[in-house]
Amino acid sequence: MKSITKKLSVCLLYFFMTLLLSSCTATHLVRSPGESAIYATLPDASHAPRGLYHSVAPGETLWRIARMYDVNVSTIKEANRIANVKKLDIGRELYIPDASPRKNVIILYPNDQWKYIIIHHSATEIGNSMQFNKAHLRRGWEGVGYHFIVDNGTCGKDDGQIETTPRWIKQLNGAHCKADNMNEKAIGICLVGNFSRDKVSSRQMRSLVSLVNRLRGFYKIPKKNIMGHGQVQGARTECPGSRFPWKKFWSRLARG
Ligand SMILES: [Zn+2]
Repeated sequence: MKSITKKLSVCLLYFFMTLLLSSCTATHLVRSPGESAIYATLPDASHAPRGLYHSVAPGETLWRIARMYDVNVSTIKEANRIANVKKLDIGRELYIPDASPRKNVIILYPNDQWKYIIIHHSATEIGNSMQFNKAHLRRGWEGVGYHFIVDNGTCGKDDGQIETTPRWIKQLNGAHCKADNMNEKAIGICLVGNFSRDKVSSRQMRSLVSLVNRLRGFYKIPKKNIMGHGQVQGARTECPGSRFPWKKFWSRLARG
């Protein structure tokens, strides 16, 4: 009886360890149809209900939205009576039936242009990719100037949600840091928030770390080339904020 109990507890321990490991470390790489790009899904702890609404962000495709929630493209297409999958209006609310908890889907394009990663804050309390896109279009830019946005749970996005902008999807130069010609060689990541005053949420930090680790691994970017906007030579800004937790960030980054 004792040995059965022992075996059972070992099995249970193994089961929970597997569960824990898969939820902590699982990232999946998938090659997208007809493209050389690789899609990586990063873990995220958001708990979406079954059946939800998703607001289409700039540059999002039905294929990518389907991957975010582990559903078929045809399921979303039918539920929303979409005639032309190539014409998705930004801001359109799509119903996603049987949605799994949302994952962050990151696209990795083979490109030797990217040598640096620059971290920014939006210096606003709220925001999302769609709003920055509108603001930057008003400035006469080609839409949102960053490549990735890490949301803070405002404007309909989850805390720690990673949005990929059209600038990244089209592999265009950034419009986030003129100093030291960073726009031509750096991947720009913006965290929504004002970190001269507020704290980076733990979910934002976790998403930022997993995004940076994934990008630097793929593009072979050394640690010394990862910095805040204000640390770029010639930049005169305290972006991403005087309270940005650099110590925490560096301690969580993979070695190398
Ligand atoms: Zn900045």
